Amino acid sequence: MNSYVSPWMDDDLHMLREAISRYVESEMLPKEPKWRAQHHVDREAWRAAGEAGFLLLDVPQEYGGGGGDFRHEALLYEELNRRGISGFGQGVHSIAAHYVLNYGSEEQKQRWLPRMARGELIGAIAMTEPGAGSDLKGIRTRAERDGDHYVVNGSKIFITNGSIATILMLVVRTDASDRSRGLSILMVETENLAGYRVGRVLDKMGLTAQDTSELFFEDVRVAADCLLGGEEGKGMHQLMGDLPYERLTIAIGGVAAMEGAVAETVRYVNERKAFGQSIASFQNTRFKLAEVVTRTRVARTFVDSCISQLVEGSLDTETAAMAKWWITDTQQEVIDECVQLHGGYGYMNEYLVCRMFADSRVQRIYGGTNEIMKELISRSI
Ligand SMILES: Cc1cc2nc3c(=O)[nH]c(=O)nc-3n(C[C@H](O)[C@H](O)[C@H](O)COP(=O)(O)OP(=O)(O)OC[C@H]3O[C@@H](n4cnc5c(N)ncnc54)[C@H](O)[C@@H]3O)c2cc1C
Repeated sequence: MNSYVSPWMDDDLHMLREAISRYVESEMLPKEPKWRAQHHVDREAWRAAGEAGFLLLDVPQEYGGGGGDFRHEALLYEELNRRGISGFGQGVHSIAAHYVLNYGSEEQKQRWLPRMARGELIGAIAMTEPGAGSDLKGIRTRAERDGDHYVVNGSKIFITNGSIATILMLVVRTDASDRSRGLSILMVETENLAGYRVGRVLDKMGLTAQDTSELFFEDVRVAADCLLGGEEGKGMHQLMGDLPYERLTIAIGGVAAMEGAVAETVRYVNERKAFGQSIASFQNTRFKLAEVVTRTRVARTFVDSCISQLVEGSLDTETAAMAKWWITDTQQEVIDECVQLHGGYGYMNEYLVCRMFADSRVQRIYGGTNEIMKELISRSI
């Protein structure tokens, strides 16, 4: 089971993985219960991860990043998710940074990326609104030009990192007459921002360490030079371009969670006894393990191929959508079996597989629902 090594790994990446793994074990895992209890990650954890050099590993060094590629970035997703550390919203932070990297002006990159790499700024993606989730073109948060500023009014919901974020990738409507070309992205620093308010940290089924929040904007003045790329109406185009990256991060998290849950379950069934023998010795257990190990391996090889394609620049929207839906559906089925093999203990939050099961449900919903993924794939057939 452990003999498989991702083909994109090399000696340098092995060393980096070990360093990240040690860091996650010593600096993050012990804090996880506190983050879950308070429903947010401490801002200091972001500073510390930045100081350790583990943020924005695939952003060029000239902008403060690690100077690697997506393989380097993938390692942190994997090491967090295989341990069930789901509150640290590295995904949205990195994705927000990539919008700046891919569409920002040189000045904008210099302004935001080094501070994001140091963990001084914590990123969030603010797209979804109460009336616009899958249907992004329905976004109503308005940004009206007033001299050197935009005046923003509206609200967002379900925003990951919402309560601790200090920089928002905010999707706004700059033109009410065109559903698609009327959208733009503003990068908004939130510290001491008049008219900006974080609403409730929402009470969720899982991801309890994650501060999924409501955000409100009332006559918020944002300098016009915060418009990503400097041109209005490019929001939809920018969003479409970066979605494969976002969907792959979700799929990677899914595979790593499966791997972590299966490893923990193998350990558990060998320890736990019933009817005078270990649970692992029952044929049902061995067959169930054979199934989850196989499904996890299939998911792993597919995600590995997607990672290589992303590094080469050839990952298309459909393939990323396939990875997102299939892997997250499979993640939930695999972790469900792991819960079953734990018996009653699998239903207790103190057990890793229990937390992972609750956390896995939303993987099929956010980042574009799995139905929307199938819609995208079907259009390419
Ligand atoms: C924990 C969590 C974290 C999140 N983090 C963020 C974040 O950081 N930033 C952010 O902007 N958003 C975030 N979201 C929002 C998330 O992306 C949306 O919830 C998701 O896109 C679905 O939108 P919706 O909730 O409005 O559902 P709806 O769009 O109302 O969908 C309801 C149902 O209808 C289906 N449906 C909709 N349209 C179609 C169609 N055309 N064909 C077939 N079926 C369809 C959907 O698949 C779904 O089953 C988060 C959500 C959660 C729960």
